[in-house]
Amino acid sequence: MHDAVWLNANLATMVDGYGAIRNGALAVTDGRISWTGTKWTGKAREEHDARGAWILPGFVDCHTHLVHAGNRANEFEQRLKGASYEDIAKAGGGIVSTVRATRAASEADLLAQANRRLRHWLAEGTAVVEVKSGYGLDRHTELKMLRVARKLQGVTVKTTFLGAHALPEEYKGRPDAYIDFVCDEVLPAAASENLVDAVDVFCERIAFTPAQTGRVFQAAKRLGLPVKLHADQLSDLGGAALAAKHGALSADHIEHSSEQGIEAMARAGTAAVLLPGAFYFLRETRLPPLDALRRHKVPIALATDNNPGSSPLSSPLLAMNMACTLFRMTPEEALAGFTVNGARALGMHASHGTLERGKAADFALWDIESPAELAYAIGANPCIGRVRGGNSAPCNSAPGT
Ligand SMILES: [Zn+2]
Repeated sequence: MHDAVWLNANLATMVDGYGAIRNGALAVTDGRISWTGTKWTGKAREEHDARGAWILPGFVDCHTHLVHAGNRANEFEQRLKGASYEDIAKAGGGIVSTVRATRAASEADLLAQANRRLRHWLAEGTAVVEVKSGYGLDRHTELKMLRVARKLQGVTVKTTFLGAHALPEEYKGRPDAYIDFVCDEVLPAAASENLVDAVDVFCERIAFTPAQTGRVFQAAKRLGLPVKLHADQLSDLGGAALAAKHGALSADHIEHSSEQGIEAMARAGTAAVLLPGAFYFLRETRLPPLDALRRHKVPIALATDNNPGSSPLSSPLLAMNMACTLFRMTPEEALAGFTVNGARALGMHASHGTLERGKAADFALWDIESPAELAYAIGANPCIGRVRGGNSAPCNSAPGT
């Protein structure tokens, strides 16, 4: 006897492409998928009529900076009125302003802001969200951000420590001293509170060098934590190869990565995470090396990169459309990016990302004729239901209700 079954459903299992099962059914038991197929003869305590809706795995957004205080709409407006980046920096804008606001916010306020933001992901059938720290850049605030991330409601959260996101004012001109502080104090403190699922670094000319990145990765290794990397977004610093060398879960952005870097990722089993929101918002022109990723069969994940500075994007659906229009990914690749490969990029492929027996019963129902519609439509949201741990959670509900 199964707990519940959804009948008259089309399934995009996301096993080998769409893995479509038309006129099928999906059953759940004890919070896990217990059956998928076309000829349902089983018994279930609860029967739902999906009325021809498509069921897809709950989306996995594997790269966000969703916990932060305030936003930078004002800066966006100033810039479009003609202010330069320098003018804005002089007026205390840029990442410094988000760090200041995040340090000042109480834990409760930060959580309320993040939960309010998170509603957009729930409305689009999201099951898992990765959330990074990195707007504290001091011990107290980095831990506060991670604690808030752990308390987000309505989704499964994976937390990533990104203490090495930017150099705080207090360490101006002393980046190595800051890296010591991150490795010796902040990261161990966060790990000892069990607040860290993975460790990330922003490796870029405007942030931290490959050598500094390597030191943070060593510190992560000492604590037994997996790593990932903001790599080769604005220039090729060899970030993809560096991530691969450390067996990273993923290398993210990678617009400027070389073919050798991609090869190294393929050998190491490191996933690529492409972030079309930042590409769009910054009006970048250098496309990620999609052909090389395909040739070397690197799993390609997609994410919103939600953050107040370079990607104020809170829609997986729009990110998929951008990946198709800007990067020329196929709708099938885009959907895989937010399901099976998003799960791979977080090391949770065993429990999420596909509709298969034994995986978490975290999925969404969509009022569409074919899965490609999800990446095709711009600004529509055909999500009509969300199921989490086998229980219905209407996709327009506020978190926690
Ligand atoms: Zn990012």
